[in-house]
Amino acid sequence: MESFEELNINRQLLNAIADLGFEKPTPIQEEAFPVAMSGKNIVGIAQTGTGKTLAYMLPILQQLNYSKDYKPRVIILVPTRELVVQVVEHIEHFTKYMSTRVLGVYGGVNIKTQMGQLTEGQDIVVGTPGRLYDLAANRSLLLQEVKKLVIDEVDVMLDLGFRFQLNNIFELLPEKRQNIMFSATMTEDVEILINENFIAPEYIAIALSGTPLDNISQSCYAVANFYTKVNLLSHLLKDKETYAKVLIFIDSKKNADRLFEAMEQEFWSDLLIIHSNKSQNNRLAAIERFNDNNARILIATDVIARGLDLDNISHVINFDTPKFAENYMHRIGRTGRAEKVGHSILFYTEDEAKYKDAIEKLMEYTIPHTPWPQEVKISKQLTLDEQPRVIEKNPHKKRKYESGASFHEKKDKNKKTTNVGGGQKIKLKKAKKYKSPITRGSKPQGKK
Ligand code: AMP
Repeated sequence: MESFEELNINRQLLNAIADLGFEKPTPIQEEAFPVAMSGKNIVGIAQTGTGKTLAYMLPILQQLNYSKDYKPRVIILVPTRELVVQVVEHIEHFTKYMSTRVLGVYGGVNIKTQMGQLTEGQDIVVGTPGRLYDLAANRSLLLQEVKKLVIDEVDVMLDLGFRFQLNNIFELLPEKRQNIMFSATMTEDVEILINENFIAPEYIAIALSGTPLDNISQSCYAVANFYTKVNLLSHLLKDKETYAKVLIFIDSKKNADRLFEAMEQEFWSDLLIIHSNKSQNNRLAAIERFNDNNARILIATDVIARGLDLDNISHVINFDTPKFAENYMHRIGRTGRAEKVGHSILFYTEDEAKYKDAIEKLMEYTIPHTPWPQEVKISKQLTLDEQPRVIEKNPHKKRKYESGASFHEKKDKNKKTTNVGGGQKIKLKKAKKYKSPITRGSKPQGKK
């Protein structure tokens, strides 16, 4: 897209953007706009620096009519005071030619001043979850008119322990609203939050800028199942020289433990594991041993590996294929640092092939296959998750039976939305056809 004019936004916004010197929308701005305008829930995976603030503000401001009501219609939650100040500043720039009332609220300053500012009437309130909840709880902030909720930097927010406050705020908000969420990474916690609170969100992911893909040689293996992956991994790791320092990513604590158990006997002196159920001391000791080259294999979940300072990793092995393409970028970014060539190996099963497709689409790169080493055995052993589900028919237990079925339906539906590529296409077509809001969030909420 060559200019903001192509988005058909109003003149006031166009002028404000021109004053800021922005020439054309960034990729996240271009992608998020039609989805946000359609009223759907959105999960955006993007880091600071991608232009995500304007990405969510542009559609919000385009749809925010003038109002005298003192109750806010837009709530923006961010994790820190500094971000509140920054976002408010940005919004003030974007609304230079509009009469939009914006207020930032955060803890550590007198709550009475903020209570007073709220009674003056606001259109948009930006806040940290703790203070915003306090203001809502004492009824100086009334949330009945909120149509749009933005949660920015969700991963950081959950890391800071704001889950409780977020849930409290969700309780007070009208059910019929649009949720827009941004996170730099997709972690287990973020996924849980989405599944519990967001119905059928549209995913938008933007590749990390500056990811040193050129420094990383990538390859992949198509593997039948979990225990065949274990066999392949053991086979590779026997070569101590090549696999000098290996970080193995796996999706869950449960699978991390299962993998550790399967590998323990053969690699015990070289094998380490970290995940959030391990004690802090345990984790620190493992990282120290790994960094000091006293053990060369570290199994980690995505959540725990974030922010860890691990150097000179020769190989990142993706024991599973991340459901969220962006997580793959984060994973492989742990190798190939500081101009060194790194290696990434991806294991994927038939079920995971769709996630691999999404990753390749995001990278605009097809990961080359490595031929199957003939000496590696295909295992027939299946994990509980891999075994086909047998549903026993029992006419006397009809109710229980039904609830089980719908649970699986929901799971499948959620899975589908993770396919960034396909969903995106459908949505873009719809927006073009109807030109105006299609669902406004009411339909999915009603289904609850
Ligand atoms: P953000 O990711 O929202 O923190 O934005 C990062 C920086 O990019 C901010 O300084 C914005 O002012 C700037 N920015 C946002 N959108 C654009 C754009 N379309 N063109 C140029 N710069 C932009």
